Amino acid sequence: MDITEVKKIWEDVKVELSEIIPPSSYEPWILPLEPIGFENDEFSVLTGQSFALSVIRKNHYQQITDAFKKILGREIEFKIIFDEELSAKLKKQIEKAKKVAEKSPKENAMDNLAKMQSFSNLNLKYKFENFVVGDNNRFAQAAAMAVAQSPSKKYNPLFIYGASGLGKTHLMQAIGHYIVFNSPNLKVRYIKTEDFTNELINNIRRGGDINERMSKFRQKYRNIDVLLLDDIQFIESKERTMEEVFHTFDSLHNNSKQIVITSDRQPKDIPTLPERLRTRFEMGLVVDIIPPDFETRVAILANLADEIGMKISAPVLELIAQSFSNNVRELEGAFNKISAYASIQNIELDLETVKKVLKIDETSKKIDILTITQTLCKYFDVSIEDMKSPARNQKISHSRQIAVYLIRELTHMSFVSIAEFFNKKHPTILFSYEKIKEEIKTNKNLNKTIDELKEKIKDK
Ligand code: ADP
Ligand code: MG
Repeated sequence: MDITEVKKIWEDVKVELSEIIPPSSYEPWILPLEPIGFENDEFSVLTGQSFALSVIRKNHYQQITDAFKKILGREIEFKIIFDEELSAKLKKQIEKAKKVAEKSPKENAMDNLAKMQSFSNLNLKYKFENFVVGDNNRFAQAAAMAVAQSPSKKYNPLFIYGASGLGKTHLMQAIGHYIVFNSPNLKVRYIKTEDFTNELINNIRRGGDINERMSKFRQKYRNIDVLLLDDIQFIESKERTMEEVFHTFDSLHNNSKQIVITSDRQPKDIPTLPERLRTRFEMGLVVDIIPPDFETRVAILANLADEIGMKISAPVLELIAQSFSNNVRELEGAFNKISAYASIQNIELDLETVKKVLKIDETSKKIDILTITQTLCKYFDVSIEDMKSPARNQKISHSRQIAVYLIRELTHMSFVSIAEFFNKKHPTILFSYEKIKEEIKTNKNLNKTIDELKEKIKDK
């Protein structure tokens, strides 16, 4: 959502809150919060006071969510993020402004920040610092960082693709955030392709001088240094948008301005995308993001817990990581739910509570080492005794390697326990796992077999 809209909603919520929260709490804790984004029903605010996190979560969380419900007519998630960088930046700006301003210095600093935000249309919660890097996104993150550090010098355009909820918008906005903070003279603009299309249509439809309006619209997207164009797959079949994007692209690219594009698929897989756009999208660097593995999912959860200063035990984090495996957005949704629950109830989270709150059904998750091994034995036509024997027969050892890989992926058992099960040494098992993990990166057939096996195991 556009940042101006976000601010409007927050103003309304604040009016509600000022009526129910006494000034002694309202003024120090609620008033200084900075709204920064409203995406996927999650409203985020920044605070520069580390204390505010626990005070608000403990005492005012319910009041705030109720106020949102009143204003928006539905429940939303409310997230407070402590931002050291922002806090330091604000302090610095306040110091600087003190010397020149007749206005209150704090207002000035906030004004600058607000101006910068509303121009670039960025959600400042998306930063490199809180983007967890794993095997699934390492290359994309490195490319994004390179672009952020030297806009238009490295990869232009940078095209990031991957399924929904895997961090494309986060990474793209992190580039914007980095440039806004480190090169304040560069003009950054973030826009969703859908919003770009709507803006274009509105300009064409409205009465009055269309030429003047179109020229303003074009200036808006060409008179900048960095264009962040999100979810380009929306362009499909929209001829006017394609036309406009084409000219905007050329104008920016010819003037050595940076362009970053995201999409849920590769340029060649966007139907109806004309050749001239496809070749342009592919002329820089095309990188993908895939779903995070178990370890990365745990790291993302640990990071979220740190952000709100909440202590959550490793088994709880692992349970969540195990139950939400496809998509970071869902993983985050689950985390927000249990962290809000814990702070409202004022309890420490244990496995039972988390299972109950997140409705994690154990019976459907009864995937164990034996089930997996039996499924594989049937599939490869070998016996469990063979698997456990020292046999070096190619067929048996290949089946065993795949079994080890699947057991580790699906149950997260330790290599030591898996080794015990197969009567093997720990390094042998580790080697089997690594071998398959490497092989599936290039071997399509193996990948297919593994997917098939996963389906069979889940159906057990
Ligand atoms: P996409 O644009 O690919 O659909 P988003 O960028 O909106 O996905 O990501 C969905 C949510 O998951 C966001 O809240 C984002 O901050 C979070 N997220 C995704 N990937 C990561 C990551 N690697 N580290 C931390 N948070 C992530
Ligand atoms: Mg996105």
